[in-house]
Amino acid sequence: MANNNPRLFGGVEGGGTKFICAVGTEEGEILAETRIPTTSPDETLSQAIIFFKEQTGNLGALSAIGIASFGPLDPRPASVKFGHILPTTKPGWTDADIIGPFQEAFPVPIGFDTDVNGAALGEWRWGAAQGLDTFIYLTIGTGIGGGGLVNGELMHGLLHPEMGHIPLPQDKVRDPFESVCPFHGDCLEGLASGPAIEKRWGEKAENLSAGHPAWEMEASYIAMALRSFICTLSPERIVLGGGVMQQLHLLPLIRQKTQETLNGYVKSAQILEQIDDYIVPVALEGKAGILGAFVIAEKALIESKNS
Ligand code: ADP
Ligand code: ZN
Repeated sequence: MANNNPRLFGGVEGGGTKFICAVGTEEGEILAETRIPTTSPDETLSQAIIFFKEQTGNLGALSAIGIASFGPLDPRPASVKFGHILPTTKPGWTDADIIGPFQEAFPVPIGFDTDVNGAALGEWRWGAAQGLDTFIYLTIGTGIGGGGLVNGELMHGLLHPEMGHIPLPQDKVRDPFESVCPFHGDCLEGLASGPAIEKRWGEKAENLSAGHPAWEMEASYIAMALRSFICTLSPERIVLGGGVMQQLHLLPLIRQKTQETLNGYVKSAQILEQIDDYIVPVALEGKAGILGAFVIAEKALIESKNS
């Protein structure tokens, strides 16, 4: 049934190069949106707040705000570092308090989580993971990050998962490439992110032809990672996004290699017979992050009423 007076949420998708801010309804309709270049925390956050002040003047008050930010960050509300960026190489952002300035400007519930969890929630509510309790969203872009739900809850824990940094077996004869991850010589992000493809082959990933050997190797690494995630979390579906996944020919290769590396061990029809519905592309393209920020806002609102 149509809701005549849907609640309004503020959403922030905080990225390393830009902050996308939007006001939208609880039904996921974006009513106003802006992009703010990521400069210093002070400048970036105050511009975001100016946008929300202006928009709420026009559109009405926000019921809650959701922030989906680049990390590393602390998403645990009980922690003293909640809402802050943890130590980062990004100049000026170590320890930056993201949630504080918003809380001062808007006395409403504010939720805070990672950008990947934001995108995962967007896909869950309106996209490729609708109706699922346990799924993974993996973005393969400048970095590789994973989020999603397990039994209906976001994966937090100690901090949040770092699915891009799991180790992978690397055949150094076939692929002598040195990882681009400054921390690990053998991790998924180090071997299969967009920058890893570019450095290994001397060409941006978007410029490599569909027949280039890069893609066979890329699909093998991603499939090995998916095997680990499938064996660890038993997701009901895996949603793949990020710039590298714009190579649509990669998806069938990844499906095939995931089946091969699992080798029939996980006895599920989804994997054995319906892999096309099991490993799927994003449905919301570039909108998952900002829409997911609305879901984070809604969760904060619900939690504030329960507490
Ligand atoms: P970010 O991860 O920075 O948010 P993206 O998800 O767009 O942004 O990822 C950027 C990476 O994806 C870059 O390494 C780029 O080379 C790669 N990339 C972007 N578009 C494509 C494409 N069409 N095909 C393959 N790789 C791409
Ligand atoms: Zn790593």
